[in-house]
Amino acid sequence: MLIFNKIIKLQQYLSSQNKTISLVATMGGLHSGHISLIKTAKQNSQIVVVTIFINPAQFAKNEDFDKYPRNIDSDIIKLKNAGTNILFSPNINEIYHKNYSFDYKIGYLDTILCSKDRPIFFSGVTKIVYRLFEIIQPNIAIFGEKDYQQLLIIKQMVQDFNLPIKIINAPIYREKNGLAQSTRNQYLNKKQSQIAANLNKILNNAAIQINKQKIECIIKQAKKQLEQFFIIDYFEILNSKNLCKTNNFTTEVIILSAVKLSKVRLIDNKRINYV
Ligand code: AMP
Repeated sequence: MLIFNKIIKLQQYLSSQNKTISLVATMGGLHSGHISLIKTAKQNSQIVVVTIFINPAQFAKNEDFDKYPRNIDSDIIKLKNAGTNILFSPNINEIYHKNYSFDYKIGYLDTILCSKDRPIFFSGVTKIVYRLFEIIQPNIAIFGEKDYQQLLIIKQMVQDFNLPIKIINAPIYREKNGLAQSTRNQYLNKKQSQIAANLNKILNNAAIQINKQKIECIIKQAKKQLEQFFIIDYFEILNSKNLCKTNNFTTEVIILSAVKLSKVRLIDNKRINYV
């Protein structure tokens, strides 16, 4: 695996190769969810570039930028074992030079769900993802369905800018108990991670009720169950294509939730396709 932290060196190498490139963008603290994205990337391209960059632009002042897990040595071992070709781990000045600005109006998708609790998050995410696209110019980029709102926003951005990049979704990778893997799960102790698994259970229970009960009843019941374990941020049942409200349960539906357990924010979702 080659490791670059300078844009110019990375670009020189990539352009000398003339091969198809896929990008897996991460903030490090790698887990099996990230590795599953790398596997998908390998199946779809000749060179897999993984980036590790903890993007300050997506953290609000009260969030965990300073204590976000940084484990570069163990990340490098995991990346090598997964067959990654290139790690790009730039510092902040390399990514955002002093005149760099990016202003993309996301619109509706940045007014719902996670945007309410984290109003600057997706403008920070689009800023870094666009910058990485600009630097790496991948043919393919893989994003996890765990961050479903983020995935749709990135797909929309690619469409709006007519970028020649294919976005591939990767399914949610879970612990044995159903808890969606996340770097921030490191903040949970053993007992808390058992409790956290209830989020997925409650999403699954709600999914079974769709088409059997009114949507309001399903949401009400689920919130009642969630309240036993968590502080609820949101629990919604929406159209999975556009994240709009739906009462039509014959097409694509997604149940999404964000909750807090102690100070740790957990998100998860369950997508249902009626084909
Ligand atoms: P992060 O390092 O948390 O910014 O995540 C980097 C990428 O990994 C994003 O595309 C995430 O959606 C994806 N990802 C994170 N957790 C999971 C998971 N449990 N399963 C699948 N993909 C994930």
